[in-house]
Amino acid sequence: MRRVTVFGATGSIGGNTLDLIARAPDEYHVVALTGGRNIDRLAALARAHRAELAVTGHPELLDDLRGALAGSGVEAAAGEAALLDAAARPADWTMSAIVGIAGLAPGLKALEQGGTLALANKESLVAAGPLLLETARRHGATILPVDSEHSAVFQALVGEDIEAVERVIITASGGAFRDLDARDLARVTPEQASSHPNWDMGQRITIDSASLFNKALELIETHEFFGIAPERIEAIVHPESLIHALVGFNDGALMAHLGPPDMRHAIGYALHWPERRHLPVERLDFAAIGAMTFRAPDEAKYPALRIAREVMKAGGHAGAVMNGAKERALDAFIARECSFLEMAELVDRTLDKLTAESLGKDTMTLDSVQHADRRARQVVEDALDLTASAG
Ligand code: NAD
Ligand code: MG
Repeated sequence: MRRVTVFGATGSIGGNTLDLIARAPDEYHVVALTGGRNIDRLAALARAHRAELAVTGHPELLDDLRGALAGSGVEAAAGEAALLDAAARPADWTMSAIVGIAGLAPGLKALEQGGTLALANKESLVAAGPLLLETARRHGATILPVDSEHSAVFQALVGEDIEAVERVIITASGGAFRDLDARDLARVTPEQASSHPNWDMGQRITIDSASLFNKALELIETHEFFGIAPERIEAIVHPESLIHALVGFNDGALMAHLGPPDMRHAIGYALHWPERRHLPVERLDFAAIGAMTFRAPDEAKYPALRIAREVMKAGGHAGAVMNGAKERALDAFIARECSFLEMAELVDRTLDKLTAESLGKDTMTLDSVQHADRRARQVVEDALDLTASAG
């Protein structure tokens, strides 16, 4: 029996992970499942999978979780320390699918146990790539990418020499507003941004797809995880979302990874790696598909990609600042405290300000990353307060 733990079990990636696990119940023992405010869902999943432990990130919900698990034999716990305790319980395979920087500390704790971490939580690589990789190395742990583009790159690299890689191309669907012009973008609402043309995902990553901040995070994720130089990493808009990434080699050959837009592909690859197993995903019919199209991303309309390049160039804690500012700006957009286009302006201004303060030239630790994250959020909040008082 493989011991598995799922962080963010109640979310979109968590649900897809448990869907695969449920198809072979004899092969897995579920150690811990974690969630946020959706206590009923967390408890139902913990019961269905006979988990040892269920944890909500919110301490005030402990009694609710206890109540929902009464008589099930599943332990209940709550709060940040309880998430870390769950990460420290022996498991062979851990899915990191909390959304946002909250996923970083449990991910690091899981790596310290030396097992395999399937990493959907891209924010932790963006904010703390070197720390994550170094922690894995020190404890003999393995990190497997779960983002579809990065799983695609990882698969295209099997048996290849990384030195022979000339370029990596990750694809972008273009998100909800790919056909809008800049004028219309200024007025879009959180509801409009929360619906994705191809992928069914959590709300935050769906909005990030519409602003191309998701692709910006993924450029950095590619750089951090594979050690590819920023100038060798490209993003291309591919509205059909069938090619997830391409790796180009020094002989001009390109290896592409294709599949339907279904995250169970990347999750399943990480679950069964280094083997391949049957997965319940749709098989592509090329005669029915007919054509695939590509276009350059409009960087004037979407500043996120330029911001990502600046962050990669700056290094250090710039990724943590960018991610923290982006998360706070996204909260503001969802709460209608700023417009869609103002999100990128807020991130830009925060990076300018904190780079001038030369924040985080020191070595990277969990503390230093969390400090940079908090500073970035504060700068965004101050800017929002100024706008609010001026308005
Ligand atoms: P989601 O919003 O559907 O789920 C997020 C999960 O995190 C939930 O279980 C929620 O309860 C939990 N959570 C949120 N805040 C928390 C906190 N402070 N403490 C503890 N738990 C908390 O998100 P998702 O779409 O499943 O995305 C999860 C991660 O995977 C993100 O990092 C995202 O960028 C990445 N990812 C998602 C997809 C996708 O298809 N959904 C694809 C690639 C990468
Ligand atoms: Mg992706």
